[in-house]
This record gives sequence, structure tokens and C-alpha cells, in this order.
Amino acid sequence: MAEAKLYCRRCRHFSPANSSACSNCGASDGLEPFRLEGKKSDGRFVRVWWPTLENTDDAKVAAYLGAGYALFIGSVSTILAISNITGITHNWMGFGVLDCFVGVFYLVCAFFIFRMSRLAALLALVLYMGIKALLLNAGAATGGNVVSWILFGLFLVNGVRGTYTYHDFVAGSVETDNESEQGRVE
Ligand SMILES: [Zn+2]
Repeated sequence: MAEAKLYCRRCRHFSPANSSACSNCGASDGLEPFRLEGKKSDGRFVRVWWPTLENTDDAKVAAYLGAGYALFIGSVSTILAISNITGITHNWMGFGVLDCFVGVFYLVCAFFIFRMSRLAALLALVLYMGIKALLLNAGAATGGNVVSWILFGLFLVNGVRGTYTYHDFVAGSVETDNESEQGRVE
């Protein structure tokens, strides 16, 4: 029989369902039931830019924001680059061979972020920041650019948050499962 678990909001540790305090940090006011694939809290407004991550569903949504944006960057870069390279368009927005590689890289990242890969989420964010840093350094940025970079960059940050939190939740859940299975005869 699967036991419900309690999740500690303070230290993110999992305790058995009948615990009155967290078995890790001892806090008694941070425990709440944990739903591995649970439904969303009623009436909670899902914020696009910084969703709260309370269960694996939330974590997946955040990860999908990152994956979706990586997919967008990947598609646009690849299509515009190929269009310029093949001569359909003429150096439109300056997309070239390098952008084609970047685009394909983002498409690969998007695929793996959709599958909850922390590494892919991290690489997508690091490359994004690197490219923006180069543009800043080259003086190719206005204030408006920078604001939109940060805003859209948050999608990729959420990708990192989502994939890492997802694995934290799943690992914590598995750990608690194993603990509760000790002393139980199959
Ligand atoms: Zn705790």
C-alpha cells in the first residue's frame, strides 16, 4: 500500500505521512501532503514568469516554459539562417551559418528539456547569456533590448528551475518510498 508522504517546505525533505514534524529539520509548521502527479491547487494563478513549484506538475510546467522558448529560438534561428544561406533571403537580420548551429543546438536542447534534462536546460541558459553578453559587449543593445532579453531569458531560467526541482521531487519521493519499504515483507 502506498503511503502519502509529507513534504517539508522549509528543507524540501520528505517525511512519512504520520509525522508531526519534519524528520530532517524538525520543523512542524512546514509539512504538507505531497502529490507526485497531483492536481493544481484550486484557484491558484499560474504566473508565467515565475511559477511557484510545489509539485512535479508545477516543475514540469516551468521546465516546459524553458523548453518552449528553446524550441522558439531554435526554430527561428535555423529557419532564418537556412533562408539566408540558401539565398531565399539576403542576410535578413544577419542570420548566418553560426546561427544555424546555434539554432540546431537549441532544438536539441528543447527536445531534452521537454524530457526534464537539467544539463540541456543549463546549457540553453548559459549559451543564451553568453550570446547576450557578446551583443552587449559589441554595443549592439538598447535598453529595450536588455529588458526583453531578461524577460525572455526568464523562460530559460524557469527551464533550469523546473528540471532541477522535478528531479529533487522525484528523488525525494523515491528515497521516502525505499525507507517505507524497509521492514515490510513483500
Ligand atoms: Zn524540514
